[in-house]
Amino acid sequence: MTTNESATNNASASGSSPAPLFSHSLGFPRVGAKRELKKAVEAFWKGASDETALQAAARELRATHWQLQADAGLELIPSNDFSLYDQVLDLSCLVGNVPERFGWDGKGDVNLETYFAMARGRSGAKKEDNESCGCGHEHGNGTANGSHNTGATACEMTKWFDTNYHYLVPEFNDGTTFRLASQKPFAEFQEALAQGHRTKPVLLGPVSYLYLGKVHGGKNPSFDRFKLLPQLLEVYGEVLQKLASQGAKWVQLDEPIFALDLDTTIKQHFVTAYDVLREKAGVLKLITACYFGAAGSNFLSLSRLPVEAIHLDITRGASDLDHGLEVLPPRTIVSLGVVDGRNIWKNDFAASLKVIDQVVQKLGRDRVWLAPSCSLLHSPVSLQHETKLESVIKGWMSFAAEKLTEVSTLARLAISPERESDVAWLANQSALATKATDPRLNVSAVRERAAALTPQDEQRDSSFAKRQEVQRNRLKLPAFPTTTIGSFPQTDEVRSWRARWRKGSLTDAEYEALLGEETARCVRVQEDLDIDVLVHGEFERNDMVEYFGEQLDGFTFTQNGWVQSYGSRCVKPPVIFGDVSRPHPMTVRWFQYAQSLTARPMKGMLTGPITILNWSFVRNDLSRPEVCRQIALAIRDEVRDLEAAGCRVIQIDEAALRECLPLREKDRAFYLQWTVAAFRVAASVVRDETQIHTHMCYSNFNDIIEAIAAMDADVITIETSRSSMELLDAFVRFEYPNEIGPGVYDIHSPRVPPATEMRELMDRASAVLPKDNLWVNPDCGLKTRGWPEVKAALANMVSVAHALRG
Ligand code: GLN
Ligand code: ZN
Repeated sequence: MTTNESATNNASASGSSPAPLFSHSLGFPRVGAKRELKKAVEAFWKGASDETALQAAARELRATHWQLQADAGLELIPSNDFSLYDQVLDLSCLVGNVPERFGWDGKGDVNLETYFAMARGRSGAKKEDNESCGCGHEHGNGTANGSHNTGATACEMTKWFDTNYHYLVPEFNDGTTFRLASQKPFAEFQEALAQGHRTKPVLLGPVSYLYLGKVHGGKNPSFDRFKLLPQLLEVYGEVLQKLASQGAKWVQLDEPIFALDLDTTIKQHFVTAYDVLREKAGVLKLITACYFGAAGSNFLSLSRLPVEAIHLDITRGASDLDHGLEVLPPRTIVSLGVVDGRNIWKNDFAASLKVIDQVVQKLGRDRVWLAPSCSLLHSPVSLQHETKLESVIKGWMSFAAEKLTEVSTLARLAISPERESDVAWLANQSALATKATDPRLNVSAVRERAAALTPQDEQRDSSFAKRQEVQRNRLKLPAFPTTTIGSFPQTDEVRSWRARWRKGSLTDAEYEALLGEETARCVRVQEDLDIDVLVHGEFERNDMVEYFGEQLDGFTFTQNGWVQSYGSRCVKPPVIFGDVSRPHPMTVRWFQYAQSLTARPMKGMLTGPITILNWSFVRNDLSRPEVCRQIALAIRDEVRDLEAAGCRVIQIDEAALRECLPLREKDRAFYLQWTVAAFRVAASVVRDETQIHTHMCYSNFNDIIEAIAAMDADVITIETSRSSMELLDAFVRFEYPNEIGPGVYDIHSPRVPPATEMRELMDRASAVLPKDNLWVNPDCGLKTRGWPEVKAALANMVSVAHALRG
């Protein structure tokens, strides 16, 4: 057995060295170090393998991961943290909450076909692949209901708190009933037990589950889904009892909504829910986990839950330690999430032990557990598979497997009287010490330049009204000007060129020549379509962040640093390890070439500082605002060079501004202040006559509309077609002064929208916004689409603009 049967700390009385603090983990990445799960699941979807093969691959991953966690020295490791697609979807199936449109008969267990139909839709209603704009981040699905005969629309997907993981939103209505309809947690507990691991099954807690869902269908749209709590708790009770009868000692209930602003009603639901759970659990011990932030104003509620242990995220919510521990019931165990589960950096043992020591002093050894801050789902699997990272930088890093060793090492060091001569301590401290002397982490030119920024640098020369006049005189665009968002289809051919070039089977010159031809074709297509402001097509770019990261100082890249974004989709974020600067222009050459092919304005296309920051793993020895400012200065240089090269319109994409909005209201103003300032630093270097665009692809601008206005871009293009322009509400209410291109072509679907439909969307927009300020464009980039549908859809789009002018 790798797990401590009694799961309490048993400092030995016999004089031998005391037992380490108790260590456990909350969840492990399931995709596999080499994305084995992605491959297995996608092969199954394609029909290239069957369910037996898929389950075998899943079993193998689980076995590997359990063993790895046990070998890392943890005393209690999780089960049911594995998922073929998403843990929230797993829970929906566990409690038999399958929306009606999937035609589940409600008998027996939810089968795999229904499970994946909920995740991906059933053909007839939604395309088989999950569509995204290619950035690796889903932006929420449409909510239209599928027809019941032929197909069913997938469940909506949305961001898991402020991470880049996306979960499937549970649907509730006045007709929802629950019953136990999956054996997953029991089967996985049994499976682990047979391998020698008495695991701690993990479930999303009942209050978070209801909170994170939405009301959909049913007769009463204003139905209070918490009315379902008693019924839901019956099933949770059954699950707990079954796990106890299988021999589980502990169950982990994740209640991450404790990190959000909660009203008293929700807090009351916690009281109700946990009274029931306590009773049903019997001798089974419960740990409730709060992560992604401090429990803060909810700490009292969390601390009063009738559970044996609570988990706190010390990396993001250390403040909970300052004001909370005194109110804990005398026996409650506190699990300290000391090792950051959301980054890739080595833990600083000295700093962590300082906190651990304080808590141990207050609560005593037996009441302190150690863990990563949250599930390790959000970090890559293991550094072992990185063979190309520079060794010094690698020495600063720690992926999931290494993080677990850090936890168990901290647990040992915490009770060691000679910790500072321990080899693990020395290795940790000396690796981190090299940071202080590495010149790349403290480039004085970068620091001085950032420090010297003044409010003037965030300011265009003139007001928008003045700039608009100058730009109109210069660009001479027709009313309702047309444009696209940047990328054109990245065909298999284009991708194969890049692959061959990377392997060395195409020379630089050959690769560039092919890209040049594709760019020229793309420019010709746009001219033939009569688009007004052209783009070069972004064929040279693999990814909108990686492309820039590869050319900036301060970045490095992993080979296998994958993290799950949704379902089988993974992203490999660039790593910002040092001060960021731009050694040479990044996009100017491609711009010049594309502009030389046409007399129409060619847009310069850049990814903005906030998006580069938010889609990277960011160093933790410098504040995010500071890192963002450095990136902003690099982009500013690029903007200036583009302008000098004759670029009249420059687009700075900020697809990720909203997604890192802090979870708590009180922290949002500060975030929006420094992010907007960074954008303005990047954009404000140009003369009045140069038009700055920005682009964002998500709905719901209501809570950030003021910040968007404060960015002061001359034109913003946004995603609107799937919400039928509803999200323009915020722009209307706020009387947004600058120009807007509300997307009229949903690029997440291969469907070609007819002109009438786009016209209707434009009519809706022009009914509420000044017509003079409207642009006509798609929702997002076209890289995931095919050429025939793109040409047809853009032709329709241009015809709409022509008609509007007439
Ligand atoms: N310019 C990028 C493109 O067109 C924007 C992508 C995005 O917003 N996600 O692909
Ligand atoms: Zn977009």
